[in-house]
Amino acid sequence: MKIIDSHFHAQILKEKGLDPNEAMSFLSGGIDIGCSADDIEERIKLTSAFPHILISAAMGPWETQSRSLEDLENQLKILFSNIEKFNIRFIGEAGLDNYWGYGTAESQEFLFISQMRYADKTGRKIIIHNREADKRTEEIIREYGPSEGGIIHCFSGSMDVMKIALDRGYYISYAGNITYKANSSLRETLKAVPKDRLLLETDAPYLAPVPMRGRPNTPLYIKHTYECASEVLGIGVEELSESIWSNFITLCG
Ligand SMILES: [Zn+2]
Repeated sequence: MKIIDSHFHAQILKEKGLDPNEAMSFLSGGIDIGCSADDIEERIKLTSAFPHILISAAMGPWETQSRSLEDLENQLKILFSNIEKFNIRFIGEAGLDNYWGYGTAESQEFLFISQMRYADKTGRKIIIHNREADKRTEEIIREYGPSEGGIIHCFSGSMDVMKIALDRGYYISYAGNITYKANSSLRETLKAVPKDRLLLETDAPYLAPVPMRGRPNTPLYIKHTYECASEVLGIGVEELSESIWSNFITLCG
């Protein structure tokens, strides 16, 4: 069975004492996700033995913490020059996070919109982080695209966010939190995603699925999320894995 993990953090796995090599050799494909302007080189080293693992790069909303707009602008210059230097095809993860409320609303939006515009201008796809920021995420996607679309990662948004994202050519990726008992309304939204736009992910080392909940997560645990999604959708795990595999191939060209 082909297993895709559309969103994980190999470097943070390593920092938590987990083996990123074991996780990446287990996968048939996936994307190692960037968090900051200067984490690219290290992650290229970490993933270089795994040609089926792609790399994205971006500054997440946490990067606004204790930085002025001017600091952020300087960091963005470093990020964009690294993206070009290493020929990175995906911008991610970038977005808004009202749950942790990093920095200020203004600085989070500045950082997100700058990366949306860059993705649009350079024909790259974006991987969006949206935590409790549905309304602005929806508006920003509406206004800034980008033309290539991308992925809404760890989807937990409203149907309005899903609708605009699907209209703009995005894939919708669900994480291990669909296995959590309390998230029945999240599981319901899964049924609305067209089969050819669905992805699954771990967001490892975060958000371990039941029955591993509470432990540091690894891509090795993603089968629990596949099983849960296949039950919700009423299709076999094999069939689900085939369609996610083909979505991933289409997404990556
Ligand atoms: Zn992530």
